[in-house]
Amino acid sequence: MTFKDLGLCDELLLSINEIGYKKPTDIQKKIIPYILIGRDILGCAQTGTGKTGSFLIPLIEILNFGKSKSRMPRALILAPTRELAMQVSEEFKKINKYLNLEIALLIGGVSFVDQEIKLSKGVDVIVATPGRLLDHIERGKVLIKDIKIFIIDEADRMLDMGFIPDIIKINKLLPKIRQTLFFSATLSNEILNIGKNMLINPKEISIHPYSSISANIESTFIKTNAINKMNDLKTLLCIYDVKSAVIFCNKKTDVHKVSKFLNKNKFKTVCLHGDMNQSLRIKSLDKFKDRSAKILIASDVAARGIDIDNLSHVFNYDVPNNPEDYIHRIGRTGRAGKKGKAYTIFDKSDDKNILLIEKLIKAKVKKIDINQIVSSKNLSNQNLIRVKKNIGKVIQNNKSKISLLPVENFLNFKESGKIPDFLNKNN
Ligand code: AMP
Repeated sequence: MTFKDLGLCDELLLSINEIGYKKPTDIQKKIIPYILIGRDILGCAQTGTGKTGSFLIPLIEILNFGKSKSRMPRALILAPTRELAMQVSEEFKKINKYLNLEIALLIGGVSFVDQEIKLSKGVDVIVATPGRLLDHIERGKVLIKDIKIFIIDEADRMLDMGFIPDIIKINKLLPKIRQTLFFSATLSNEILNIGKNMLINPKEISIHPYSSISANIESTFIKTNAINKMNDLKTLLCIYDVKSAVIFCNKKTDVHKVSKFLNKNKFKTVCLHGDMNQSLRIKSLDKFKDRSAKILIASDVAARGIDIDNLSHVFNYDVPNNPEDYIHRIGRTGRAGKKGKAYTIFDKSDDKNILLIEKLIKAKVKKIDINQIVSSKNLSNQNLIRVKKNIGKVIQNNKSKISLLPVENFLNFKESGKIPDFLNKNN
């Protein structure tokens, strides 16, 4: 099946072709025809499957026939995080390139006034996080009684983040007669109950069962011990050919600790977590996307759904406490048909969380000891340090001479992340 077979208008076919999508992904093939005939959708799909395009392409095709009034958009997309909302808005702009639809991005942490000006000029689509949308509604800056298509993305994460009361509030303000597209990576009873109250006779479409991992991702668990964790992470970054990686930490405080440690070791890193303000989050993502930083260190919530092209590796600095987060984290790589590698650092205290992951994916994970990796690469400690120096040099674009700290010395600063002064004297 081609995009043309879906009966899309020429302008859409042109922009899709320019983006480089050769043919519809599975979810796009299955969902687009139903959206085009006006059916409600209950979609069970992970990110990485082409899910965003599966609702944006038909949405644009439908909205192209008609016009919105000032402050009365015709479509509403709700996303759980600012980053996901931004990504949806960016993809919308690319697909809409040859059409004249207007979109407003309503997220927290950025100017309220700019958003208000945009709304007053009249927009066709709103993509928003629930809190900021309610702010605008309550101040009378936007009316949602003319919404024809309501899309909820990542409903399960909305539930995790406590947004369901907001969504119920928003749902009550929407017209009863409308089309609703409800997406979630999991379909638990709780999610199904929420969906039931918003959908009318939905077409249920499931793409990637949530408990499965893309065949394009090679995932390995690396045994280390808690004291040496940060150093082992650095060793892995040195050994593997890391072009662009996300490192996930369970705790926000660790995001900064790991970043500080790696920066000290000549890796260029940026951070992303929920306590950072929006402009810092955007700055981090921009630096990572334009490759001026090769490593993004992130917490789960902030990195949810982020889509970065050609991410070669994902590292889990910690085994996630929630097994579903494991699938989300490693699903950042191996996207859109490309291969990706994921490494999860663990020690003996992680046995329970690993069992939960194995239960969810219905398979044993591949485990290997860090020492085995180092020796399989045939590297003595001295050689390893040399390899690290070389990699450090590449990262620095040969700008300066690198002096990396020897592996064993890092034992000294354990979990504190603070490098003792005597180790710094050569830097
Ligand atoms: P998503 O599931 O929406 O997060 O999309 C994952 C990735 O797939 C994004 O980088 C999209 O740009 C890409 N993508 C979406 N549709 C297609 C398509 N038909 N062909 C190739 N890549 C696609």
